Amino acid sequence: MPKGLNHVVILLVSLAGPASAKTWLVHDNAAYVSASRQLKADDTIALADGEWRDVTIQLVGRGTADKPITLTAEHPGKVILTGRSNLKLAGSYLVVSNLVFRDGYTPDDDVVSFRTDTHHWADHSRITGIVIDRFNQPDRHKEDHWVSIYGADNRVDHSQFEGKGNDGATLVVIRDKPYPLDNRARIDHNYFGPRPPLGSNGGETIRIGTSTESGSDSHSIVEDNLFDRCDGEVEIISVKSGANVIRDNLFVDSQGTLTLRHGNGNTVERNVFFGHDIPHTGGIRVINERQTVRDNYLEGLAGEDFRSAITVMNGVPNSPINRYLPVKNALIANNSVIDPAEINLGGGADAERSAPPESTRFVADLIVKDKGADPIHVGASIAGISFDRVVQSPAGKPAAAGIERRAVALARGANGLLYPADPALAKVGAPRDLKPVTRDEVGVPWYPKGASVPVAFGSGAIRKVPPARSLGDAVAAARSGDVLQLAAGRYHVAAPIVVDRTLTLTAAVDGNATLAFSGATLFRIENGGKLTLKGLAITGAEAPRQPGNAVIRSSSAPMTGAYALTIDDCSFADMTGAPGFDVVRTTANTFAGTIAIKDSHFDGVSGTVLAGNEKPDENEKPDDDGFYMVGDATITGSSFRDVGRIAVLSRGGKDESSLGPRFAMTGSTVADSGRAGGSIVLWGVQATHIADNSFRASGGIRETHTVGTPHTVITRNIFDDTPAPVIDELYYKGPPRTVVTDNLVKGA
Ligand code: CA
Repeated sequence: MPKGLNHVVILLVSLAGPASAKTWLVHDNAAYVSASRQLKADDTIALADGEWRDVTIQLVGRGTADKPITLTAEHPGKVILTGRSNLKLAGSYLVVSNLVFRDGYTPDDDVVSFRTDTHHWADHSRITGIVIDRFNQPDRHKEDHWVSIYGADNRVDHSQFEGKGNDGATLVVIRDKPYPLDNRARIDHNYFGPRPPLGSNGGETIRIGTSTESGSDSHSIVEDNLFDRCDGEVEIISVKSGANVIRDNLFVDSQGTLTLRHGNGNTVERNVFFGHDIPHTGGIRVINERQTVRDNYLEGLAGEDFRSAITVMNGVPNSPINRYLPVKNALIANNSVIDPAEINLGGGADAERSAPPESTRFVADLIVKDKGADPIHVGASIAGISFDRVVQSPAGKPAAAGIERRAVALARGANGLLYPADPALAKVGAPRDLKPVTRDEVGVPWYPKGASVPVAFGSGAIRKVPPARSLGDAVAAARSGDVLQLAAGRYHVAAPIVVDRTLTLTAAVDGNATLAFSGATLFRIENGGKLTLKGLAITGAEAPRQPGNAVIRSSSAPMTGAYALTIDDCSFADMTGAPGFDVVRTTANTFAGTIAIKDSHFDGVSGTVLAGNEKPDENEKPDDDGFYMVGDATITGSSFRDVGRIAVLSRGGKDESSLGPRFAMTGSTVADSGRAGGSIVLWGVQATHIADNSFRASGGIRETHTVGTPHTVITRNIFDDTPAPVIDELYYKGPPRTVVTDNLVKGA
């Protein structure tokens, strides 16, 4: 039977139940408030189908284990809480089911809270079949939580959470005083749907506790959940307490890890991770003492460093509680790690994290990576790590004693997982009886899963737009995924074209479509927007003679989704008639997942081609809040002449939770550009790859490393009459960690 129907049956049964059990069907908030004051054990209150706007629903009462107090919908999924709405529980044995939150946001700190105020919380209570869909604060920097579990013995199950775009963990288990510490939350059979990268700390999907009380045990259980594309930050689940169990969950294409961040004696078992070789997909990260990681299956995880398939961190000697307690007595047994990019031992080792793992055992793990380099990365002493019956394929030189290197052939089992074909290896790696949870087993049957992800480029119709037609009107009429095909000729655009869906603008085969614009902006990307420009010529000749023009800019209002921009085979010219004329200008409070520029040409741009800095003056230190505005920026096969700056990217703060910005530039030429202060200016960038470019009579590359473990490779470039790259370290002290090799610097 579909899960939704269960609750309908329960409602009918209570209607016919003993006289003491009452059922109310309420049609507005006043009726709800009136009825909810009378609730007794075994009573049910149902919200009438329809939209409930701007309501705070409080459910307060005392049920019993046999006779809970129930709040539900007249029909599952037909009650939609919108606007500024939220739900609060206090008491005991309360059950809330079958409500949807969308098209709004909470007026305070949580959408669903297991407390009504600091002194009143819920125990032995449950929310089940709740959908929270993109219920985002308009300001992405405003922090909130979608579910805050206070109290003890509470459960969140069969619910769906998707598309959280603003700051703050999606679901938190709160165990600071005065709330109970040993609180035994159970989180099961939920669908944690796509969460876009936040571009800062605070993008966790689940957090259990905080560092303050992490020395005590929570005994919470997270099981049978599906984590689908949970990309918010480095921690998908952040365990910050002791004695929790994380088991039988399925992680798919999620760019982070299950992190045992604080607290001891946690168990991570029988989880399945699939990365499908998607960059930055990770597995399990171990910190602290007595952690058990066993019987997990991890396949195709492409993450490195803190996002490795398995990371055993280095710790801080005498660590403050909120830093990194050294790993001691970890057991990492019977895990299968198939095609990982990296297994990271002594992760994060630096001058502060100088304590290597102690008394840590790898037992009967299976590691298979038959192509590419040995994935085991040793970042510190592994004298405190032992290996026992660990098997690694292919044959070769083991990284340590206790690792047997041999070829292992794999075959996929009926459960969809790979196992050694050789029966002699039956006891190595993950158990055969793993059964990854299915999409149908999590969440609710009456609401779609994964629908928050923007549609793909080119998935819609092709629409021809003649030059006589208003391009703005054509864009406004297009559906998400459509391709607008521009004919040869000149298109004049007066007002900014608003992009709030997935759109491709491309030249028809006969080419020579030119866009000229007379406002300060040609394209403005708003929430939900993704834009590809292909084969177009764009001129700034008609733009106003005033500072601050930009061909493409992100919204001046906060955005919750991550947008994307591709510029392919386009040319940009005549942008020197006004100062500070940018091609792409990103704005504070917005986040671009990717900006890709390829095979394009820029000739005469007074500002910056890719401006990914929070402040217009890139010489000023970025804000310390840690937010940044571009995840991946790539430039390939392009040319720049007489350009103010090629790229400026910055990220502030000292947090290590996020990946970006990342910058790559290859196969491009730069001439007569960036003379004042440098052609490429990077601050706090986490990965830099600048290769096979030629710079002539231009400003150099200036990069400042701040936090994290930035990877910088600058190689095979020609710097002709151009200074050599300058890379500064703001905090790091240690051997050089940049690769600047095989460049030719001449005539500077
Ligand atoms: Ca975090």
